[in-house]
Amino acid sequence: MDLFEYQGKLFFSRYGIPISAGEVAFTVDEAVAAAERLGCPVVVKAQVLTGGRGKAGGVKVANSVDEVRTHAGNILGLDIKGHVVGRLWIEQASDIAREYYASFTLDRSAKQHLGMLSAQGGVDIEEVAATDPDAIAKIHVDPVEGLTEARCREWVAAANLDPEAVQGAVDILVKLYEAYVDGDADLCEINPLILTTDGVVKALDAKVTVDANAVFRHPDYEEYDAIQHRDERETAAHDKGLQYVGLDGTVGIIANGAGLAMSTVDIVSQVGGTPANFLDIGGGANADVMAGALEVINNDPKVQSIFINIFGGITKGEEVANGIIAALGRVQIDAPIVIRLDGTNAELGRELLQPHLSETLQMQPTMIEAARTAVALAEGTK
Ligand code: GDP
Ligand code: MN
Repeated sequence: MDLFEYQGKLFFSRYGIPISAGEVAFTVDEAVAAAERLGCPVVVKAQVLTGGRGKAGGVKVANSVDEVRTHAGNILGLDIKGHVVGRLWIEQASDIAREYYASFTLDRSAKQHLGMLSAQGGVDIEEVAATDPDAIAKIHVDPVEGLTEARCREWVAAANLDPEAVQGAVDILVKLYEAYVDGDADLCEINPLILTTDGVVKALDAKVTVDANAVFRHPDYEEYDAIQHRDERETAAHDKGLQYVGLDGTVGIIANGAGLAMSTVDIVSQVGGTPANFLDIGGGANADVMAGALEVINNDPKVQSIFINIFGGITKGEEVANGIIAALGRVQIDAPIVIRLDGTNAELGRELLQPHLSETLQMQPTMIEAARTAVALAEGTK
């Protein structure tokens, strides 16, 4: 789950990372009142779940309350890459001497955390990576060992920050690592991390993504769930507790287990089709879950065929088959369905499905044959 900048900053500050004083505002009047309390100059900042706000006109310095009124009026309602601004963060303006970049994220292939630090901040880090990769100092942190201050100091030295920023950067990065691990984050990014003209290092921006599966450990993360940018299909699936990601294609996909669901997306593409979604129904393929999944996919107007790909593990084949049969009795599905059922008690499950098969409910023995059939049906060639 992605956090708004101000939520990320408040998250950082709980771990002792310095940020500027600020307040959230939903209206122009609230922005003005906040500026009066904070004292001008302030920065009026659009709160949207996307980057590049500055370039889009969503970050403005205001030297007076009148300017706050103007900027807040212009920024509220602004469309930034499809995200309409509904709230602002008003913070005391900083005098910036230098802008740096700092982040922690997971390097899956290295099976370690990856820290990135650069003296070239404030701009897109992807751009720095492309034009001047040596300007990014990287560090891999073993999750068991953690990040010691000594190692952090070496890392900061490698990034060639200005000497007066070094101590502040080391302090912040040690805390940022702690926030990243303790907060179950997938990403903690500060761009820019600034050195002010009076020698203070602080986080001027915050991009934080926390793992939605860790909400049970952080009940206060519930508030982040409400702000996620989901399309209609994703909202419907989310309400049913399904792991769903909307895509643009025509073959609806239902699979059990995230790995199989991803493989199903891949194989549909491999045989020339376009997946409409990723949908993992999890372990238990019972009638309720199956009916919910079918409903979500059926409501997607682009879907021309549905590929149900189930590998019975703990869930037995006959339970899956009964789940599918019961679900089909409850929801009216428009697109033809192709089933591939394998794994524990697959034969029993297939036997149960056999009498229900028709033009619009087909079964194939293998994943690739089922994918080919689903794609052909989506294209109207079968
Ligand atoms: P982003 O464009 O979405 O990444 O938003 P940022 O929060 O990073 O702000 C964009 C840019 O606005 C920063 O890189 C700064 O150059 C500028 N900016 C933000 N806050 C301040 C501030 O307090 N003072 C000054 N002078 N500039 C600021
Ligand atoms: Mn930024």
